[in-house]
Amino acid sequence: MGLNTFTIKQAGKMLADKEISSVELTKACLKRIKQVDGQIKACLTVCEKEALAEAKAADVKRAKEQGRAGAGHDLLLLGIPYLAKDNILTRGVRTTAASKILENYIAPYDATVIRKLKQAGAVLLGKTNLDEFAHGASTENSAFGPSHNPWDLDRVPGGSSGGNAAAVAADMCLFALGTDTGGSIRQPASFCGVVGLKPTYGRSSRFGLIAMTSSTDVPGPLTKAVEDAAIVLSVISGADKNDATTVDKSHPSPLLAKEKGNLKGLSIGLPKEYFIDGTDKGVAEALNQAIEEFKKLGAKFKQVSLPHTKYGIPVYYIITPAELSSNLARHDGIKYGLSVEDGERGKTDLMSIYTKSRGQGFGQEAKRRIMLGTYALSAGYYDAYYLQAQKVRTKIKQEMDQVLETVDCLLTPTSPHAAFKIGQQSNDPLKMYLEDIFVTGVNLTGLPAISIPCGFDHGLPVGMQLIGRRFDEATLFRVGQSYEQATEWHKMKPLNVIASDPGLDPGERSNLTHNLSY
Ligand code: GLN
Repeated sequence: MGLNTFTIKQAGKMLADKEISSVELTKACLKRIKQVDGQIKACLTVCEKEALAEAKAADVKRAKEQGRAGAGHDLLLLGIPYLAKDNILTRGVRTTAASKILENYIAPYDATVIRKLKQAGAVLLGKTNLDEFAHGASTENSAFGPSHNPWDLDRVPGGSSGGNAAAVAADMCLFALGTDTGGSIRQPASFCGVVGLKPTYGRSSRFGLIAMTSSTDVPGPLTKAVEDAAIVLSVISGADKNDATTVDKSHPSPLLAKEKGNLKGLSIGLPKEYFIDGTDKGVAEALNQAIEEFKKLGAKFKQVSLPHTKYGIPVYYIITPAELSSNLARHDGIKYGLSVEDGERGKTDLMSIYTKSRGQGFGQEAKRRIMLGTYALSAGYYDAYYLQAQKVRTKIKQEMDQVLETVDCLLTPTSPHAAFKIGQQSNDPLKMYLEDIFVTGVNLTGLPAISIPCGFDHGLPVGMQLIGRRFDEATLFRVGQSYEQATEWHKMKPLNVIASDPGLDPGERSNLTHNLSY
């Protein structure tokens, strides 16, 4: 097994024990990307030169800092290689949001979460594919083509952080940084058999994310184990003066307790609206098995009801287009990225630059959402749609908060099914919106949730979702970690598929995968 297969925790220990260096770890990941990404297409940009320089610097820093009193937490991510979703700004490394309109955009500053990871010494390997502007659940909306699921290359990896999830599952990196606006970390994590954490809204800063839905966007990690998610969260979280919605809350300890069967006294709610007909049998069976496992660990279950769940999708698909139609207004052909002029420079009509740049730069789904959102916000319809949706959102929030007063957390499937085939439903936007049925609720309410591998359906990974109280990621980590200690699902690797890889296919993406620096 190559070094690239390690968890953060395992690699961190070997780095601390001087058994490996960050340069070796980083090289192993870069080699893996070269071997398998021709087939998986998780990466849009790989910054090999920069990554190796960062790894070298991390090794130097470790030699100096290790042993210094109190250095422990500061070194948790030192020298650990990761990939970031391409809607998170990285200074000097292109950020495209998987859109033609930003194809060559290089941000002049780092997102706060990237800055924090840099300060902690994590090594940025590159940027991963997503649905354009994070609109989607499959990565099929990427302007640069879909990513493929490492468990079955004919299937989607989920989305919008599909490149993230595929890369972690295929061991191209030790962890990935994604964003979750309406399920985009948890659903791909579930489809690819990895852990995906959506932190509480306000826990990690949105500054430097390419905004989708500002009232629900939140950055978070995709990892190979629950404890790794806790480690990354401890580094990226905290108040940020550049994001007024962040909250200064102490974060849970990144190093989790190890005692087994420690769920005695814990009560887990099963919301009946999430266990419905239409969920695949294999998914329901995996969830039932997980419930039995939790019982063995000492947890008690209680059936609960969240009657407003059925309004989650309609409310989300009014609020999200409304907010993103406004957020995407800045891409006008003047300020950033693609600018389409047809006359002599200086003589072109401004309106024509707007319409041509936006017309050619945005993909179909982005345009659809801009139109839906503009409509929902327009005079005459605002009260009927947007305002009404906000009222129902408040109901959904109150209801979830109340239920969470009666139990410690909730357990649900992350998705009603495992990964579907590429192209299977890409022409059916409504069907695609329904993909989000179990994941948007927590985005509308701001609560934290984690998807954890809990089995397989016909050889494809299945994830379960744990939903916690506001700012109580600690319970999710404790419950998830106990489950991982009792099961092996998170250790399964899609080796068969990847082992059959004929090797690097440099052709198709060579124009997208290259070094970039100032
Ligand atoms: N499937 C959701 C959507 O299409 C995912 C959004 C997200 O979390 N970025 O809106």
